[in-house]
Amino acid sequence: SWHGLHSFSEASARGFSSEPSLQADSTEEIGFKGHGMLAPFTAGWQSTDVHPLVIDRSEGAYVYDINGKKYIDALAGLWCTALGGSEPRLVKAATEQLNKLPFYHSFWNRTTKPSLDLANDVLNMFTAREMGKVFFANSGSEANDSQVKLVWYYNNAMGRPDKKKFIARSKSYHGSTLISASLSGLPALHQKFDLPAPFVLHTDCPHYWRFHLPDETEEEFSTRLANNLENLILKEGPETIAAFIAEPVMGAGGVILPPKTYFEKIQAVLKKYDVLLIADEVITAFGRLGTMFGCDMYNIQPDLVSIAKALSSAYMPIAAILVSPEIADVVHSQSSKLGSFAHGFTYSGHPVACAVAIEALKIYKERNITEHVNTIAPRFQEGIKAFSGSPIVGEIRGLGLILGTEFVDNKSPNDPFPAEWGVGSIFGAECEKRGMLIRVAGDNIMLSPPLIMTPDEVEEIVSKYGGALKATEERIEELK
Ligand code: PLP
Repeated sequence: SWHGLHSFSEASARGFSSEPSLQADSTEEIGFKGHGMLAPFTAGWQSTDVHPLVIDRSEGAYVYDINGKKYIDALAGLWCTALGGSEPRLVKAATEQLNKLPFYHSFWNRTTKPSLDLANDVLNMFTAREMGKVFFANSGSEANDSQVKLVWYYNNAMGRPDKKKFIARSKSYHGSTLISASLSGLPALHQKFDLPAPFVLHTDCPHYWRFHLPDETEEEFSTRLANNLENLILKEGPETIAAFIAEPVMGAGGVILPPKTYFEKIQAVLKKYDVLLIADEVITAFGRLGTMFGCDMYNIQPDLVSIAKALSSAYMPIAAILVSPEIADVVHSQSSKLGSFAHGFTYSGHPVACAVAIEALKIYKERNITEHVNTIAPRFQEGIKAFSGSPIVGEIRGLGLILGTEFVDNKSPNDPFPAEWGVGSIFGAECEKRGMLIRVAGDNIMLSPPLIMTPDEVEEIVSKYGGALKATEERIEELK
């Protein structure tokens, strides 16, 4: 059994009994030192000394830990298990494909039927504009890395070798490989890793509540940000700027919605200077916002799109990039001149992942997932936003089934709580105690539940959020 728990009370608050069933006979330590895994985004995190929360099984919108405690999974894993944790059709699709052909690759004009079929399904489903081709990867990070290489290859083919810089936005999240972390606009991803890479520039985060000037309207704020983008392009030289990448709604940066007219004005600037637009739809694709894609919600006409997560409802790792017909044509026609398009992964278009994704897309269509989201989202949004008056809440923001809360003092974006209070973490722990898992990032917390939630499950999230908020308010009163 686990001995030497540094803070056993915290561990038991998570639902671990004094006789946990995890096998770790010789383990003297817990937390980071207590197991063999260098876990992602874990060392240095707030609760590293606590016994890790070990999730054992899932059912619908719920997950269970190894002691059987039940949690509503209000982040859908990591914004990804859109169809919940026990969709039998996805299991069947994977099993049948595993039995038939567990693997074959897609290099050198060899491929498999599931990857060909999925590429067509994705192209048919994306209607914000016509897309030409789909490239498969295994993660959102790989997809965004591939975007950069594809854009560089394209500009080399177009005879403009200087057009190589990327502009991303502060607080964006595009992944954690070298290039996707560089694109991301979160300091923790850069510090200590010698990033960002020098060809990446960052422009304004479009967060109206936090960054608008006194008396500035949302529309004026968007105009100012578009002007700032234009000035950055002019300063660097338009001939050096290859592409701009943006999440339709920023996820991990705190669920930040674009202000009114933002994408319209940004797209006009990009067009003017022949800068490609990459929509990072890794979180927003397949219904999260109440439209099939974020591009539909905001009238975005991208040249390239990254998708992952809900593409397979996360049952298998798979990601994809959608490539405009113009870029696809250049890649095809120029590859004899430039040398072959020498890019891809062993598991690009993995047949089992593709079979699962084909089935997931079928389910989204059959069950009219956007309609379901639009049926339950109003109560989800209004239920949580009803807590906006809390003295510790600065802003609650979201749409569809994505929602963020920012905790501040005095309801002001300029009055953060002392970092050492860990207000976001207190709220996260209170949720966990009540059987709800959410995302905590500093004093921002985020919800992105499975799309298949029932109205009762929405009520459960609203009620648990309310309980956790009240407990957090009380704790802050004590700290003050
Ligand atoms: N892009 C966005 C918008 C994301 O939210 C994420 C992950 O959360 C990624 C890219 C990276 O995806 P992955 O973790 O699959 O590499």
